[in-house]
Parts: sequence; structure tokens; C-alpha cells
Amino acid sequence: MNRNILVIGSANTDMVITTKYFPRPGETVMGEQFLINPGGKGANQAVGAARLGGQVTFITKFGTDLFGEQGRAQLLREGIATDYVLSDPDQPSGVALITVDEHGENSIVVAPGANGTLSAADVTGADQPFAECELVLMQLEIPLPTVVAAALLATKLGKRIILNPAPAQALPDELLRALFLITPNESEAEILTGIAIIDADSLEAAAQALLAKGVKNVVITLGAEGAYLRTPAGAQHLPAVRTQPVDTTAAGDVFNGALAVALAEGQELLAAVAFANQAAAISVTRLGAQASAPYRHELRQPVT
Ligand code: ATP
Repeated sequence: MNRNILVIGSANTDMVITTKYFPRPGETVMGEQFLINPGGKGANQAVGAARLGGQVTFITKFGTDLFGEQGRAQLLREGIATDYVLSDPDQPSGVALITVDEHGENSIVVAPGANGTLSAADVTGADQPFAECELVLMQLEIPLPTVVAAALLATKLGKRIILNPAPAQALPDELLRALFLITPNESEAEILTGIAIIDADSLEAAAQALLAKGVKNVVITLGAEGAYLRTPAGAQHLPAVRTQPVDTTAAGDVFNGALAVALAEGQELLAAVAFANQAAAISVTRLGAQASAPYRHELRQPVT
């Protein structure tokens, strides 16, 4: 089958304990519920895209442990091609330990494990997944040199690249220049540009600063305010779909997965952002990360 979206990134197992309050250093508290959920931005975005009809190939790396086995099985259940999912016998699979208190605040420690050894050579070793896709979607939970190498190969093969720059960090110019689209949220945009987004002018200034670094197009996500699209031709603020949020975990991941699907199907950026707003708004009405990602039949079609 022809695979139109190549996602490259992290896969984690999220281990979540709900608790009345967080322990102080040295303290043990008795928690309440315990949940094990598949997570990691790469996997979340791959699942988000697959549920919306994307034909997704995912490049990631697990350890040779039970979490890795479960992670692969979960990807297959979602219809994601795992031909290029790798294993590191010397590292555990990535794990996030998450505690959530009664106010919904969370505290998270991530052990990247095998995600941290996904190397440039691992990812660029085979041209095929790059050659057959329409576009490449990446985040920053794998080593930066791997992201850069993948971007350069994708560019050489004439593929568009979407980078969701999370967690934010300084990015080399050669990466920025290779991007068709960058999708920071407000705080990530501030880290990338040094411009705090406090009003419409600073929003536009941050977007312009990213264009000036050589990125072709910019979408800054604004949570309940929707998203700001900036292209060389103009700017548009697309308000969020009004809804009653229950849990915004992975809203950004669903947004990016949806953007990739719409763009891979040939939609214009404006229509693709509207589609992504719709998908992310559904996800915030549901609990969980991957569990909250909507299916295609739940959305209106992208408008052209
Ligand atoms: P997260 O870290 O929670 O995954 P993020 O910080 O990466 O999210 P946000 O800008 O908070 O990204 O949200 C991404 C998109 O999700 C927004 O552009 C919007 O489309 C949608 N969204 C987020 N919050 C809401 C909300 N309360 N109501 C409707 N849509 C929302």
C-alpha cells in the first residue's frame, strides 16, 4: 500500500498515578488510580494521523522489553506500518512517569531510553519510506542530529517537512530552512524567537521571525484561541472550534497529525489548519492522549 505520511519520533509508555497531592522530596504518598497508556509525541501524532485516514509509516525505536512489544502491537492495531520500527537491545523503551493531582496539575519525568539512541544512520539508512511518502512529520523528542539528517534527506527527495518543535530548543538554520511548516505553541514560539506572545502584534512578530529564519510557513497554535497561520502571502487567525474541554493532553499532537493528513491529501494550508482545529477540538473533549484522537468520520471533510 502506498504510504503518504512518514512520522519520525518518540514512542513512550506513560505510567500515570492519580494522587491527592504530590510527594515532597523523600516523601511517599499513597496514590489512587494507576493507568498505563501509550504515549510519546511521535506515536501520538502517528496515531492521530492514522485515525484520520493517513497511511502512516512510523520510524521510532523501542527497547527489547515488554513495553516495546506492547508499543509495536498498539501501532499495528492503529493500522500504522511498523517496517522501520527499530529495537535497541541495550536500552529500555521510553517511559514517562506521570503523577496527576486532584487539581489536574501534572508532574512528569521522562526516561527517553531507546528514543535517545534513534540515530541519523538509523533513520536515513533506507530511502524507501522517504521516497514513497508525501510528507514527513517530526517533533523534538529524539536526538536533534537525527531530525536534521531526516530533514536533509526528505528535502533531497523533494518532500515537504512539518516540524512540531516540542520540546522547544534552539534549532540550526539548515533545519529551519528545510521546513515547509513549523508548528510551535505559544511558549515554544517564544523559546525559538525570543518574542513573548502577549497580543496580536507580538504573535505576528514571532511568526515573521520564524519566516525570516527560512521556514516556509508557520502555524502557531493558541490553545482555546485556535491557531495563527502565517505564510509569505499573508496571515490568518483561525479561531478554535468552541467546545467544553475535559482534558487537553495531546491536543497539539492531534492537531499536527490532522495537519499532515490534510496536506498529504493535497489541501491548501488554510483548509488544513481548519481541519486540524476541528480534530483537536474533538480530542480536548475526551480523556487521554492517543485515546482522545478522533476518527475521520467524526469530522467534516477538509474544505477546499
Ligand atoms: P498539548 O501540549 O496540550 O498537546 P499544545 O500546547 O501543543 O497542546 P495548544 O496550542 O494548546 O497545543 O493546542 C493545540 C490545538 O488544539 C489548538 O490550536 C486548538 O486547535 C486545539 N485546542 C486546544 N485547546 C482547545 C480548547 N479548549 N477548545 C478547542 N480547541 C482547543
